[in-house]
Amino acid sequence: MGFLEYDLSVGAEVRELQQAARRFAMEVMRPAGLAIDRLPAAAAAAPESPLFSVLRQASALGYTRLAGPEELGGLNLSPLTSAIVLEELAFGSLGLAGTFFLSGTHANVALLTGRPEAIEAFALPYYRSNDASIRGCWAITEPDHGSDTLGVMRPELVVKLPGQVVARRDGDQWILRGQKSAWVSNGPIATHAMLNVHLEPEAGMDRGGICLLPLDLPGVSHGPALEKHGLRSLPQGPLYFDDVRVPRWSMVIEADGYAAYMENHLSAFNAGVGIITTGLARAAYEAALAYTGERVQGGRPIFEHQSVRARLFRMFQLVQASRTLARNVWVYNTTQIATGGRAALEHSIAAKVFCTQAAHEVATLAVQLHGGNGMTREYPVEMFLRDATALTVADGENSFLAQIGASLLAESRGGQ
Ligand SMILES: Cc1cc2nc3c(=O)[nH]c(=O)nc-3n(C[C@H](O)[C@H](O)[C@H](O)COP(=O)(O)OP(=O)(O)OC[C@H]3O[C@@H](n4cnc5c(N)ncnc54)[C@H](O)[C@@H]3O)c2cc1C
Repeated sequence: MGFLEYDLSVGAEVRELQQAARRFAMEVMRPAGLAIDRLPAAAAAAPESPLFSVLRQASALGYTRLAGPEELGGLNLSPLTSAIVLEELAFGSLGLAGTFFLSGTHANVALLTGRPEAIEAFALPYYRSNDASIRGCWAITEPDHGSDTLGVMRPELVVKLPGQVVARRDGDQWILRGQKSAWVSNGPIATHAMLNVHLEPEAGMDRGGICLLPLDLPGVSHGPALEKHGLRSLPQGPLYFDDVRVPRWSMVIEADGYAAYMENHLSAFNAGVGIITTGLARAAYEAALAYTGERVQGGRPIFEHQSVRARLFRMFQLVQASRTLARNVWVYNTTQIATGGRAALEHSIAAKVFCTQAAHEVATLAVQLHGGNGMTREYPVEMFLRDATALTVADGENSFLAQIGASLLAESRGGQ
């Protein structure tokens, strides 16, 4: 019951990239991911953490710049090849792949918006660096506003409350004030941010903006790394803004374009989560496949028992279906966004929700197929299950995302 590449356009060159990513995932990322998982959160994010050595190696190989233009230092991979490589990296460690994926957020947004000052300040330095000295994050969630921040593109889900990070204009500058929650991935180690702010706080969450900024400006501070149950190799923590001044151009999206921008952003990000989650599901499946060939009960390897095979086959189906959905949506949506077309958010949400639930089921079955060993740290499957749980909430809690998706479906039928 092995992996079958359905896409016959995938040639030898891409397969070589895939194999190279898989080797890096297994030789470097998997052991480092397991080691970081066992560290206290503060140690995992500290300068001497193995996290930084992996990040430097990944950056040198270009794994933090998969899609970036070649002339700037990116690998310039097509959406399909990026998806293939990203799944392999997440197969090694979901948390570390998440760190790589998020590191270029501010640079990618700068390129996408095409603002010359933003490209100069954020995209060029990021793509030209290959030592992981520049690390981005996406800061949107606030202590009092989680799901509230996400439904901004759907009129019936817009929350008419003031947000907690507010930007106000002062001549040629914006002044930022407030706090983002401890859930900012890469928060404790980030040097730069894509920051969602509120521009007209009294008008509601849909009157926001996107600000790109370095996090060493006066008035910015990082909070402590968050102790959490899963995805421990992806450091998370709060960011504070105490009258931080940024130039006017760094607000690359203002209120009128905000909801549309967020729709595009989630259309890409949610599909990306589907891809990395497929890597995790495959890791859990392959671990179970190996273990069931070794563990003997009833006088034979447990793989030979019919009920064990049935569970493995269920896992196999979920992995293949996840890959097919997430990859197709990712290729479609990222291509649409890059060419000025309309991305399909409901499909991206379907991919995120399906893949994360599938990964959770696969990881649960992997733990059960390991019996008592599945509960121990001797085997990686207990970590896979904790990581899978985290992904059902990351990038939007699944039930809430499904409300956005259902609202888009209703609109396509002529209703709300
Ligand atoms: C692993 C991980 C990584 C993350 N990475 C980032 C990151 O990089 N940057 C960042 O800023 N944030 C990040 N987050 C935060 C994440 O986006 C939020 O946790 C998520 O949006 C949910 O918000 P919340 O935790 O405040 O839950 P809440 O919004 O409080 O939701 C709690 C429950 O209430 C339900 N609910 C909420 N509103 C409604 C409604 N209107 N109708 C019906 N039900 C509702 C939800 O469905 C959920 O079940 C991350 C979170 C996790 C777990």
